[in-house]
Amino acid sequence: MTEQKQPIFTLENGSVRYGSGQPEAVSGVSVRLYRGEILGLVGESGCGKSTTARAMLGLVPLSGGRLTLHGTPVSVHERRLRASVQAIFQNPAASFNPKRSLLDSVAEPLRVHGQGTSKERRARALAELDRVGVTEQMAVRRPNEVSGGQCQRAAIARATILRPEVLVCDEPVSALDVSIQAQILELLAELRTEQGLAMLFISHDLGVVASLCDRTAVMYAGRVVEQGAAPDIANRPRHPYSVALQDAVPSLDLTADPAPRIRTRTGTDDVDGRLLPGCRFAELCPSVTSACTAAPPALDELSPRHEVACYHPFEPAVR
Ligand code: ADP
Ligand code: MG
Repeated sequence: MTEQKQPIFTLENGSVRYGSGQPEAVSGVSVRLYRGEILGLVGESGCGKSTTARAMLGLVPLSGGRLTLHGTPVSVHERRLRASVQAIFQNPAASFNPKRSLLDSVAEPLRVHGQGTSKERRARALAELDRVGVTEQMAVRRPNEVSGGQCQRAAIARATILRPEVLVCDEPVSALDVSIQAQILELLAELRTEQGLAMLFISHDLGVVASLCDRTAVMYAGRVVEQGAAPDIANRPRHPYSVALQDAVPSLDLTADPAPRIRTRTGTDDVDGRLLPGCRFAELCPSVTSACTAAPPALDELSPRHEVACYHPFEPAVR
């Protein structure tokens, strides 16, 4: 892992609420993306991974916090943000126009930015598609005429054709066959190395994150509870939730939608839908103490670049 002073793109202390009276879907989440590094964002369904990604892409408004690009605050309406930050999603076909060829869709960003003649744009799109492993024969087809893997490759080509600095990937391999997943992950790893892209890689698959990512952030119920070097999070998790996630303790039912759990947390004495104070994992935590339900623990650096939000983190030796 490279030591770099300034991240390219950050979300600082970001919060998102989908409606007034709703609890925050994410609360005070900070994400820092560095050049040539992939940050994995993991956590069970409903914990706020996609909301974090959408906030960073300007697809949902922040109710608190801010975005910075190269160290200065940036608005989601600024051209420099839209040029620098691109995204790919779980279902690539849904983001393509079903009536147009992959080639036309990949060339589209060049047209929007007024680059080249139509012939030049076609040539550049074909080259970009070829680079991600889509042949011309495939490129002239429509999204529904190619496999999910080919379609995701084309989505990557469209996202990278303007040479962004940041790529936000929300579960980009979750809908693909396992054999295809590996190829797409390899392609993303190449882009990181060859283009120095900074990436946010969202997944609920810890194995995938451990193999691909440089750093990992673990989210639970709208907050980042632990982050650090990917091998440290995989082999020496410190937060009780990260430990449970690694062990996939069935009794915690980590696959269930935690939204009802968040609502349970609001309790009957809280009428406006805000969460009770304290750690959101407290009610499921095997090592809960009275401190845990009083105030939320801050994300503290326990060792260099390894941060944990817990009053009683696991000792590394315990693992
Ligand atoms: P993840 O991607 O980790 O599965 P999400 O970010 O999609 O989680 O969801 C986080 C929380 O926000 C969940 O409680 C979910 O129900 C809620 N949520 C997500 N999208 C919306 C929406 N469009 N409107 C209202 N609530 C939403
Ligand atoms: Mg999601």
